[in-house]
Amino acid sequence: MVYLDAVKKSFKLGLHKALPVLRNINFHAPRGKTTALIGPSGAGKSTMLRCINLLEIPDEGILRVAGKEIRFERNETFSPLAKAHFVRQRDILDLRRHTGMVFQNFQLFPHKTVLENIMEGPVLVKKEDPKEVRAFALALLEKVDLADKTDSYPSTLSGGQQQRAAIARALGMRPDVLLFDEPTSALDPELEREVLKVIRTLVEENNTMIIVTHNLLFAREVADFIAFLDGGEVAAYGTPAEIFGKTMPKRVTDFIAAMSPEDYVI
Ligand code: ADP
Ligand code: MG
Repeated sequence: MVYLDAVKKSFKLGLHKALPVLRNINFHAPRGKTTALIGPSGAGKSTMLRCINLLEIPDEGILRVAGKEIRFERNETFSPLAKAHFVRQRDILDLRRHTGMVFQNFQLFPHKTVLENIMEGPVLVKKEDPKEVRAFALALLEKVDLADKTDSYPSTLSGGQQQRAAIARALGMRPDVLLFDEPTSALDPELEREVLKVIRTLVEENNTMIIVTHNLLFAREVADFIAFLDGGEVAAYGTPAEIFGKTMPKRVTDFIAAMSPEDYVI
């Protein structure tokens, strides 16, 4: 469903310096499965996720989402802006339509109600029939347990409610793949639980999902596959049993040991 083949991305730091963030990413997230992305802070997890929906444009490599493929080639004569244009805007928008993103800090439209937040994309971008969109949006709000918040504004909701609204908004676009960037890291444990419950439902429905998370217990419980990112590379990949098993490289076991509650024993 999602493939990254030798994807590289650097950020320019002034005229002559660049920070290589994704050094060489090879990655596959299969259809109908949940893939967790774990790894230390600064490893490139967010950048990788943002490359998948082209909020960042890779320098090199191949990206395939839901059968659509874009190849990226480095061309030093292009400025970052020109490079963004080098990849056709139409291809970017086309590919982005297949993905739905849920951010750490929710990013709801503050001046729209919860229902309007969900309806905006399908009606304005996908030009779907507002009546049908409304019915679907109400069903989604039921699903994320926000049926009573339909006409509320985001600022009146708790963080957990805002994140559930953001998940409903992403689902409203009927994406082929859902991308979550640390969806619960801004939340207290109690609110985290209600969001994880919704995500767990989506896992059980066999949505295709990629979830960046620091919550290793959750990753271990719900993910079909886990990719461990370190220094801009996928340093390990496997099932939870493999990743949490005994045969992983030291940097993986060290990370897991440091991140895990006391019940983790290698
Ligand atoms: P993670 O999500 O794994 O913590 P990120 O992908 O956010 O890692 O960041 C990886 C590295 O790239 C960090 O060193 C970060 O400072 C840097 N970085 C991320 N975005 C930018 C940007 N827009 N400009 C410059 N550096 C960036
Ligand atoms: Mg991040």
